[in-house]
Amino acid sequence: MPIATVNPANGETLRTFEALDEAGIERRLDAADTAFKQYRTTGFAERARLLNQAAVLLDEDQQDIARTMTTEMGKPVKAARAEAAKCAKAMRWYAAHAEELLADEHPSAADVEDSGASRAYVHYRPLGAVLAVMPWNFPLWQVVRFAAPALMAGNVGLLKHASNVPQTAMYLEGLFRRAGFPAGCFQTLLVGSGAVAAILRDRRVAAATLTGSEPAGRSVASIAGDEVKRTVLELGGSDPYLVMPSADVARAARTAVTARVQNNGQSCIAAKRFIVHTEVYEEFAERFTVGMSDLMVGDPMQESTDIGPLASEQGRTDLEELVDDALGQGASALCGGGRPDGLAPELVHGWFYAPTVLTGITPAMRIHREETFGPVASLYRVEGLDEAIALANDSPFGLSSNVWTRDPDEARRCVRDLQAGGVFFNGMTASHPALPFGGVKRSGYGRELAGQGIRAFCNATTVWYG
Ligand code: NDP
Repeated sequence: MPIATVNPANGETLRTFEALDEAGIERRLDAADTAFKQYRTTGFAERARLLNQAAVLLDEDQQDIARTMTTEMGKPVKAARAEAAKCAKAMRWYAAHAEELLADEHPSAADVEDSGASRAYVHYRPLGAVLAVMPWNFPLWQVVRFAAPALMAGNVGLLKHASNVPQTAMYLEGLFRRAGFPAGCFQTLLVGSGAVAAILRDRRVAAATLTGSEPAGRSVASIAGDEVKRTVLELGGSDPYLVMPSADVARAARTAVTARVQNNGQSCIAAKRFIVHTEVYEEFAERFTVGMSDLMVGDPMQESTDIGPLASEQGRTDLEELVDDALGQGASALCGGGRPDGLAPELVHGWFYAPTVLTGITPAMRIHREETFGPVASLYRVEGLDEAIALANDSPFGLSSNVWTRDPDEARRCVRDLQAGGVFFNGMTASHPALPFGGVKRSGYGRELAGQGIRAFCNATTVWYG
């Protein structure tokens, strides 16, 4: 994949970039190594000062960086601004909380008495340079979600961003530099995915985090395993969205639309499989389909646009193949099912797809098991909670889950039995700096955000005094 900015709204290549050569990569790895030796000794107050300054700059840049993201990957510009604001908030949150999250942990004297210790505790130290292989769908947030805790822990970051968001990737390096982080603390490596293996194997790289597809995750994890380096993987999902009879169906259907189409439907934590109790199925299906049909598809730079283009032509082809496979095997589209009609002439070469609701899905269809990365919802009817949970768990993924119910027993069952990294009741899944984020099964392992996220790339050091 060339490293380039290609506008998904019209397919136009706006700027191409040369990948770093071997000498360029070497210089940057060296800079990371040198920076870490110093930076690891800074205190929390200094790190927080720098990260807070990055947040100030990001707020100032919000309009411009939002337009850059929209140009590179097609998300509606209002969503891009919200993403930038969320990043600044997460930076401030980690600046305020890192010291407490990484405070020494002291077991009680009684607990360690028989170890012979007069005193013993756990002290968190940084690991070193962490390689972040990141996707284009939230081109700021995915990076900041890693960078804010990593930098507060005293690590340094090396970003290998997706090849279609190079300007956002370079912006991020510039942002941390302008905030005052020493040279080498956060660098962007403009390289293709083929360069990742050698970088990951380099002794100056301590660990890696990857958000993206399963093949990419498997490759990075196996190389890191071979090198005995720590990894966190976030590989997407096909989150279930259960609607039970006690739900506020109107609200559930309204939220379902947002939960499915956020970011043009290209979100790992988007609800993708809508599993609805038969008692409320008709009402939900009607309201949900109307909500999906009413969405404004068009130029993502327009404030009124709800759905822009998919980020790449390949992404749209993949989605078309999944939907066509289902329709070909007997599924029906309550709305959409193909490319949208009536686009403005300047958008006809863009990679748009109409908001779609599919029913009649069977396990034989690819869409039943694969992730739909676009505005396509799978709607299922079930007879009760047991069937709903079984269907929800009948997926290789286990990122998050959503449940609409006012019945506390049903809620308890879901917390116990849904195979996912999160269970969100009467709302939609969203990440938040204070709550851990990550999945089980093929959605990956490890956690980002909250205390778990910052400790993921720390050396939990046992300190023991005789
Ligand atoms: P990829 O997984 O290919 O891209 C994500 C990142 O991984 C990019 O930086 C990419 O670099 C890099 N990468 C790709 N292959 C490798 C590899 N073998 N070794 C190391 N790094 C690699 O995702 P796509 O953009 O191709 O999207 C494909 C599908 O992946 C989507 O349809 C969706 O299902 C899923 N996905 C999930 C995301 C999530 O949020 N969980 C985000 C993005 C995609 P480069 O761009 O240079 O190829």
